[in-house]
Amino acid sequence: MSREPAGCGTPAAYARHRYYGEEICDKCRAAWNAQCTADRPRSAKPWRRLPPEPAPVVLTPREAAVLAAHRAGDLVLGGWER
Ligand SMILES: [Zn+2]
Repeated sequence: MSREPAGCGTPAAYARHRYYGEEICDKCRAAWNAQCTADRPRSAKPWRRLPPEPAPVVLTPREAAVLAAHRAGDLVLGGWER
């Protein structure tokens, strides 16, 4: 299927100019810039302090062994009611 290429003054035409290595006309460049400005969030906060990480859960060796067995499928917690 063939269709009409987007006319100049649209972001699609800007992309087409770029794709084919053509000279980018002012109308297309303006349309592209307008689109970039519209897409940008109103208040960009690129650097934000991350919340502190929660303290890690420290298991006793016995708890760790039970958890490992559970994850390996050797120990199923619950399920006896079925
Ligand atoms: Zn153009």
